[in-house]
Amino acid sequence: MSVATIEDTKQILDQLVAFPTISHDSNLAMLDYLASFFGQLGARVFLQHNKDGEKANLFATLGPEKDGGVVLSGHSDVVPVEGQNWSSDPFKMVERDGRLYGRGTCDMKGFLACCLATARGAAELNLVRPLHFAFTYDEEVGCFGAQALVKELARRNFRPSVALIGEPTMMRVIEGHKGCYEYTTNFVGLEGHGSQPDLGVNAIEYAARFITHLMGLGEKLKGQAMAGSRFDPPWATIQVGRIFGGAGRNIIAGNCSVEWEMRPVQRSDAALVKESLDTLINQHLLPEMKAVSHSAGIETIVVGEVEGLQVVAQSEARDILYEITGANGADVVAFGTEAGLFQEAGISAIICGPGSIEQAHKPNEFVDIDQLKSCLKMLSRLQSKLV
Ligand SMILES: [Zn+2]
Repeated sequence: MSVATIEDTKQILDQLVAFPTISHDSNLAMLDYLASFFGQLGARVFLQHNKDGEKANLFATLGPEKDGGVVLSGHSDVVPVEGQNWSSDPFKMVERDGRLYGRGTCDMKGFLACCLATARGAAELNLVRPLHFAFTYDEEVGCFGAQALVKELARRNFRPSVALIGEPTMMRVIEGHKGCYEYTTNFVGLEGHGSQPDLGVNAIEYAARFITHLMGLGEKLKGQAMAGSRFDPPWATIQVGRIFGGAGRNIIAGNCSVEWEMRPVQRSDAALVKESLDTLINQHLLPEMKAVSHSAGIETIVVGEVEGLQVVAQSEARDILYEITGANGADVVAFGTEAGLFQEAGISAIICGPGSIEQAHKPNEFVDIDQLKSCLKMLSRLQSKLV
């Protein structure tokens, strides 16, 4: 049995970093590389393109065609480097003092490289359970790729039982995180002269009532924190991050946009907020606005709804991770990942990967070579559980 080596992994990572797969650009060049990599190993591979065809997810399978496999999952995109002060070319991997520097080395091409190096060995084994690789697009901007991928897996009747998402956790086992739901709510009013407010519909004033309501909901959620919650803060949060609207002091504001987010601990938190906003908008704000102008309106655009990863009592993924990492406890984290989407699709999901979230998204991003070695060890133990 060939065991993945760190030299192999470094070489692969060097190639992955060289693809500038920033979320707003195409990832197809890297996907071609990955598809031919898995193709050469004899894996079954499919690509799933986004609407404009410029990005894609890759799903590859080694081993038998049956349910109950393990998915190793990671995103192919990286965050931008503009405005960051890098001491070397971010898309050229540099090794220095036991670290590998470059955009994505930590978040999360380091994990991807470990997966590929492991796949080389796994391809030579007689797997009794399938080993899948899911590499997605647009994670950094709203997990759009993973949302499409879990739907595609259901459509194709693929039923893996476990998903390991290799986001940087310093190889700690992470069993939960909050959801991250992001919205823009647009208010369209009716402009008019500032001296005659009753003849217009002031979009800013309606937005203000909406925001006040959001703040009230935030307070309510604060009072509903679950006892023993390990999240910091332990309750679901709501936050308004940006607002703009109006044309000038003496003009009734014809429009206003509110950019806001909520981070539910449980899916029921999000349901509570949505229901309450629905009532506010449809029973109070809209009728008042429409009484003055038919063309007035309120529209909420969903930027992204990334599900949280809920901590569950029974978890096959956690059991396996304890076994292959030797960990005897799991944590929760503040950042969102694709794990909640897999969980929602009925797949037992867990997060564990090389590198620290501290280095993610920053200039001079790096991953410790020792972290990659630990990851390779974990993956080799995982693969030996599939034979
Ligand atoms: Zn990431």
